[in-house]
Amino acid sequence: MARIVMKFGGTSMAGIERIRSVAARVKREVTAGNQVAVVVSAMAGETDRLVGFCREASSLYDAREYDVVVSAGEQITSGLLAIALQAAGVPARSWLGWQLPIATSDAHASARIEHIDMAALETSLAAGEVAVIPGFQGVDDDGRVTTLGRGGSDTSAVAMAAAMQADRCDIYTDVDGVYTTDPRIVPRARKLKKVTYEEMLELASVGAKVLQTRSVGLAMKEGVRVQVLSSFTGEDAPMADTLPGTMIVGEEEIDDMERQLITGIAHDKNEAKITLIAVPDKPGAVAAIFAPLAAANINVDMIIQNIAHAAGSTDVTFTVPAADLARSIEVLNQGRGAIGFGELVHDTRVAKISVVGVGMRSHAGVASTMFSTLGERGINIQAISTSEIKVSVLIEEDYTELAVRVLHTAYGLDAEDAA
Ligand code: ADP
Ligand code: ASP
Ligand code: MG
Repeated sequence: MARIVMKFGGTSMAGIERIRSVAARVKREVTAGNQVAVVVSAMAGETDRLVGFCREASSLYDAREYDVVVSAGEQITSGLLAIALQAAGVPARSWLGWQLPIATSDAHASARIEHIDMAALETSLAAGEVAVIPGFQGVDDDGRVTTLGRGGSDTSAVAMAAAMQADRCDIYTDVDGVYTTDPRIVPRARKLKKVTYEEMLELASVGAKVLQTRSVGLAMKEGVRVQVLSSFTGEDAPMADTLPGTMIVGEEEIDDMERQLITGIAHDKNEAKITLIAVPDKPGAVAAIFAPLAAANINVDMIIQNIAHAAGSTDVTFTVPAADLARSIEVLNQGRGAIGFGELVHDTRVAKISVVGVGMRSHAGVASTMFSTLGERGINIQAISTSEIKVSVLIEEDYTELAVRVLHTAYGLDAEDAA
């Protein structure tokens, strides 16, 4: 007998037919003798709809009430799956975040899981019941409902797997694994059998939304074995323990033969570029720009300082999350006297393209291949940032798909059977 967590994303839960097919998939694991906890997302599109209601109700909504509203989508799907399981002859019940409870911080809309109380769940599992747990939600010390940030059901599933000491955390989604890049953009993308935690963490953080970044960090810290696999397969689909999807593993589990220089390419259209023109070229000037942004909790990503173009002044360009652009402009304008810039220009029509691979540690030339490949296609690079295993460039948004495709080919990632 194994203990497993099965997580089903929004498209897998979209409608009663799909929920029935999820129930059949869960039943197969139970029949095989496994103890199962299922974590579910809201139906596809539902969370967006609920977020829309909050915005419509007030542009300055209370984050605690936002959490009450947006957590509702998962409450519905967890109940529906428990009903579908019971109808299929599988004992099951739902456990809402506050019922277990799943204790979180009080950072509403982006709360962190602190502890999962396993007592009730253990009793239920021991009695042969499938526990159905709504993802994305928890409860804070004051007893108020919290949510974990968009895509947070992945994190709920990994946290549950860690608390249960599960043998595996299977993340069922609408693709059959992690690919070298988003297969919806590059049909020639190749499915990876294994990816290291570190690479997956980096890929997720630069835009590969197949797993929420936090869920990967948590899996790495807790040593949870995570598999990404498809829920869109029929009754004859291979059992999950044959590992048909992609396993997220420690670096030691990947042997040299399997190691690629570049593991994957990701894109992110949710950044905005800000340029401050004519900033005084003197010590402390850059600090005067970024200190107030940090104080406002705004994450600055890429930064470039241009060569001084006039005596004693320079331009500074950087990116912030597009959702924080309005706030950033406000903060910078408020600090204009202290910073002393001439003009502020901004642009949301930008995209960040990143190549990721642990092979970069020991091989030179990854960045130069990226720059020359984009240059040959006439794609201008507006900013650059790097880490030990990643190179990112900022380009015009319209070129996103083209850039991802040509880089995919340039790094030899195209699937062999593709034309
Ligand atoms: P779910 O609703 O199941 O949580 P998501 O939409 O959050 O699913 O994540 C799955 C999607 O992630 C896929 O449909 C795919 O378009 C996208 N994706 C982005 N990058 C990758 C990648 N490298 N490999 C696989 N899927 C990716
Ligand atoms: N339903 C939530 C969202 O759309 C959480 C999730 O699906 O992971 O962000
Ligand atoms: Mg998701």
